[in-house]
Amino acid sequence: MMLVSAPWVLPICSSPIRDGAVLVEGARIARVGTLADLSAAHPTAERRHFDGCTILPGLVNAHTHLAMTSLQGVAGPGDFATWISRIPAAWGALSASEIRESIERGMRMSLASGVTVVGDISYGPDSPATGSQLGIGGVFFEEVLGIPAEELPARLREMCFPAPHADPRIRQGLTPHAPYTAGPGLIAAAHSAAASARAPFAIHVAESAAESELLASGTGPLAAVAARVAVGFEAPGTSAVRYLDALGALDGALAIHCVKVDAADAALLAAKTRGVVVCPRSNAYLGNGAPPVELLLEHGVTLGLGTDSLASNADLDLFEEARALAHIAPTLTAEMIIAIMTLGGAKALGVEDDFGTLEPGTQADLAIFGVVGEDPHVALLAEASTQTLRALLAAGEWRT
Ligand SMILES: [Zn+2]
Repeated sequence: MMLVSAPWVLPICSSPIRDGAVLVEGARIARVGTLADLSAAHPTAERRHFDGCTILPGLVNAHTHLAMTSLQGVAGPGDFATWISRIPAAWGALSASEIRESIERGMRMSLASGVTVVGDISYGPDSPATGSQLGIGGVFFEEVLGIPAEELPARLREMCFPAPHADPRIRQGLTPHAPYTAGPGLIAAAHSAAASARAPFAIHVAESAAESELLASGTGPLAAVAARVAVGFEAPGTSAVRYLDALGALDGALAIHCVKVDAADAALLAAKTRGVVVCPRSNAYLGNGAPPVELLLEHGVTLGLGTDSLASNADLDLFEEARALAHIAPTLTAEMIIAIMTLGGAKALGVEDDFGTLEPGTQADLAIFGVVGEDPHVALLAEASTQTLRALLAAGEWRT
């Protein structure tokens, strides 16, 4: 048993604890309380105290593509349709070993910023395997693209989907990418395959004005891409969110981006999805504007926060992303933003039983920042970053 303590402990599921401590037993959290109480009750536990620090649950980067870490700077910033047209060639030029290096580098960058949980878009078994080795848990959504819908069930059986991962921290799901790259048959088939396997499902939706135009009228800068790869796509004359709802693909889904949404879309997202993950710096990089965070929250949407891939961001630091979120949603308090980057992301991914809080029984993932303040949430939002991360515990093991 190990007792980890600091001037502030933020369990997220309950009030901040001054002079707090977390008792870790194996890979899980056993108790959370004041250092005085826990050290009296467990006098023989190994101790580790962090002066001048605040302890948080491992952060949840609810949307990223860690395999694309090495694609930083290959396209953009600027126009979304031009950017998306350049990614396949840059990705196709990577060798299998370059992709493995890219995944590992992205995971080490994530851990260095306090992230132990991801909603990652993956391309084969290397991402979950590397996550398991390095202590990254969460959901790995295998991207299914360019597969005729009728072949999907057989292809998934070949992939043994969802092969239960040996690591209890890892779940595997499916994603057909987006309405402009996957036809309606593939989206519906992927959703029903995930649902029948009780596996998580994610989809990028309502990311750009170009996507809205394509869905509304079949025209615009994404029309050529859709004609080439989204087999069977016909403009539904409605929003991307309402289109996916008509396909049955919002039920229990993780909806990624949701920048171009109106009040009716927000109500549907709240009613049908597990949650929405917003990626404000990626949206800004690609000239897509900002997600209507307050509108989504007003309608009761569960929100997570993601960096997206390094192909559309400056870094994978979730607190840098949180500062961008604070900028676009000034009515959110620091406490609300820290809840979004922990428990909110875990709920949006459907992994809140294991991650996102310091509740007894959850995974022993602790992000410890060399930041303190009278209001620890405000201090963290101002100063927490890769530079101020002091230590990181994942599955009960020290990783940094
Ligand atoms: Zn993405």
